[in-house]
Amino acid sequence: QPPLLHVKDLNVTFPTKHGPARVVDSLALTVHRGRTLGIVGESGSGKSVTSMAVMGLHTDAEVTGSITLDGRELVGLPERELRRLRGRRMAMIFQDPLSSLHPYYTVGEQIAEHHRVHFGSRRAAARRRAVEMLGEVGIPEPARRAGEYPHQFSGGMRQRVMIAMALACEPELLIADEPTTALDVTVQAQILELIARLQEERGLAVVMITHDLGVVARVAQDVLVMYGGRVAEQAPVDSLFAEPAHPYTRGLLDSLPRLDDGDDQPLRAIPGSPPSLLTPAPGCAFAPRCPRAAAATPADRARCTGTRPELTPSHGHLVACHLSLHTAAHTCGGTR
Ligand code: SF4
Ligand code: MG
Repeated sequence: QPPLLHVKDLNVTFPTKHGPARVVDSLALTVHRGRTLGIVGESGSGKSVTSMAVMGLHTDAEVTGSITLDGRELVGLPERELRRLRGRRMAMIFQDPLSSLHPYYTVGEQIAEHHRVHFGSRRAAARRRAVEMLGEVGIPEPARRAGEYPHQFSGGMRQRVMIAMALACEPELLIADEPTTALDVTVQAQILELIARLQEERGLAVVMITHDLGVVARVAQDVLVMYGGRVAEQAPVDSLFAEPAHPYTRGLLDSLPRLDDGDDQPLRAIPGSPPSLLTPAPGCAFAPRCPRAAAATPADRARCTGTRPELTPSHGHLVACHLSLHTAAHTCGGTR
């Protein structure tokens, strides 16, 4: 059986006033049924753009490469067919559910309408399905609350409504773009738990997009770390946390709050700013911020700034770094 989602050589380029900006560059990823892939990176790393490309939601970008869903090529598919696939086979939820919900219709009407459009079901059946879905995502008194409007729900409940809507048509792939970023910590944990439960019960494939490795640790089996529109590292989640090979992954892990940190400990952010996508440097995009390059020999540093590192398999990870920790020379040195 082919993987549910397979992306290869994906490039997404936006026209800008200052010339084309390649926001996603030579990206490859695979998502299997019943598994969650976490895509991590800071804002501007290309993670949202990647997911929009998968959903076929970029009208103004040039998209090249291959995106297959269950073996079927999506790049170049007419909008009409993409629209049919969205909802029935893949669905997406966002950070801000209010922007995707209509203020003038009850949530029950909106879920029912979504179901009717994709399944051609009768109104009564679609209404029943809406109430059923609201119950399934943990909204109490779903029959009553189906008659309420989006603004009558709290942020967390609204995200549950979005999940109910996304799953009403039984998609095989759910893409969640920062679904918990706007929520407080307790509600965030509940939503992540819900997504993990639904994923398991339904054998869903999930792509979880986040800037937070803590979120990834809770829900993902596989992790892809993006930097500057490219893959920096990909690995199974445990292995990524235990043995990050890429200096950027290492930096993200170091910026996670620790249990032994007091409340007064500031988050350790990675110094420096994201690379320019308009005039990409010839070498590694992370070079200007990379502590490992800074500590390297002049010859190694020249390689970092002069040659782009290719994504290379190493100890079960895929790593794009000339000085990957997994390469013999550096593990023996023991320096990070
Ligand atoms: Fe750092 Fe060089 Fe590796 Fe890039 S290739 S991440 S600059 S060590
Ligand atoms: Mg984003």
